[in-house]
Amino acid sequence: MLFTQEHNEIRRTVRQFVEQEINPNVAQWEADGRFPMRDIFRKMGALGLLGIHKPEKYGGLGLDYSYNLVAAEELGTAWAGGIPLAIGVQTDMCTPAIARFGSDELKREFLAPSITGEAIGCIGVSETGAGSDVAGLKTTARKDGDDYIINGHKMWITNSPQADFICLLANTSDDKPHKNKTLIVVPMNSPGITLSKHLDKLGMRSSETAQVFFDDVRVPQRYRVGAEGTGFMLQMLQFQEERLWGAANTIKALENCVNETINYCRERKTFGQPLIDNQVVHFRLAELQTEIECLRALTYQACELYVAGKDVTNLASMAKLKAGRLGREVTDSCLQYWGGMGFMWDNQVSRAFRDVRLVSIGGGADEIMLGIICKLMGTLPGKKKSPVAAAPAVANAELASQEALK
Ligand SMILES: Cc1cc2nc3c(=O)[nH]c(=O)nc-3n(C[C@H](O)[C@H](O)[C@H](O)COP(=O)(O)OP(=O)(O)OC[C@H]3O[C@@H](n4cnc5c(N)ncnc54)[C@H](O)[C@@H]3O)c2cc1C
Repeated sequence: MLFTQEHNEIRRTVRQFVEQEINPNVAQWEADGRFPMRDIFRKMGALGLLGIHKPEKYGGLGLDYSYNLVAAEELGTAWAGGIPLAIGVQTDMCTPAIARFGSDELKREFLAPSITGEAIGCIGVSETGAGSDVAGLKTTARKDGDDYIINGHKMWITNSPQADFICLLANTSDDKPHKNKTLIVVPMNSPGITLSKHLDKLGMRSSETAQVFFDDVRVPQRYRVGAEGTGFMLQMLQFQEERLWGAANTIKALENCVNETINYCRERKTFGQPLIDNQVVHFRLAELQTEIECLRALTYQACELYVAGKDVTNLASMAKLKAGRLGREVTDSCLQYWGGMGFMWDNQVSRAFRDVRLVSIGGGADEIMLGIICKLMGTLPGKKKSPVAAAPAVANAELASQEALK
């Protein structure tokens, strides 16, 4: 990917923002289990960083996705994954469908303030009984006059404790599971919405996560994104940006780990010589850096094709899979060279070890990515009703969704 001066400028701006506004506070925010999201979002909004590839009409910079990818990659220099995650939810998880398929009114009411940082958004897909199996979700939105009445719950919802709106996937009919869903934007101050206490997580400690309950929540039908019954398709498309963002954001987080480990191994001496001088150590770190470059190349390639308007289901799934797998490998290997220091809770590499673990689970687990890739490789066995067939079912649906939108 050839970067322009503008790409480099965005990269520099994000890097500076992370160095000045985020990294000095990370230790405190991790301990608090939250960060001043409104303040950070407003500052990012003022710099144009929350709407890089969103339409200018609604306050975005109107640039193509490659500029956003550069920002996602650079956000990976934050010393805690929780803060980039909260930002990524806003820019690449709860707003892409609104930007592409929402009405003008919806965009003015929810997209525009999320670009300035005045409004915080979250995405409500997963439920306790439906994470990988998105089609199996149970939350309903039944019509009542001009409104929807929503009942159900959403689990593990990042940003929800501070969010102003949720982009919610709910069943709006009794049709087949891939045709009965609709994306609806729901203001979080609507009567009938309650939240669990903050969920206590292994990593991503500074991001806020909760369960959201809907008890006869009334919203106007005009808050629907796109046509009724297209929600599953729109969410699968929205996942493409989520997965590209996730892969890009992981690159620099892993590079940070390798660089910090090199620095540590230069200083730390065992048996009279710096750790880094052991061939097993410097060779291993060189191997990990090579793998990171492979992830970068794959992610950039997926991005280039996405910008060119191509279907990147395969490459985005591969990049997400590779990011998750490599994230576990890099953080585990690096942590080892820190010895006992690597086992300390506040160590930067141990934090990355915990944070990066989410990449293989959230936004479609590794096995779901493998199911999609296998489907496209033509290696999936025919449809079966056994539980093992669940991933192919999701992959089929994701692909069917892409086809239906062409
Ligand atoms: C910190 C955090 C933040 C999150 N934020 C959000 C959010 O903001 N919004 C939101 O909607 N969701 C969010 N999620 C939910 C996340 O997307 C789901 O956890 C994820 O999709 C996996 O679903 P699940 O946990 O129900 O796992 P399950 O579906 O129960 O699967 C469990 C495991 O089984 C394996 N597996 C699943 N299916 C198959 C198969 N067919 N074949 C082989 N193996 C399989 C996978 O390894 C998977 O990890 C978040 C989760 C976490 C932990």
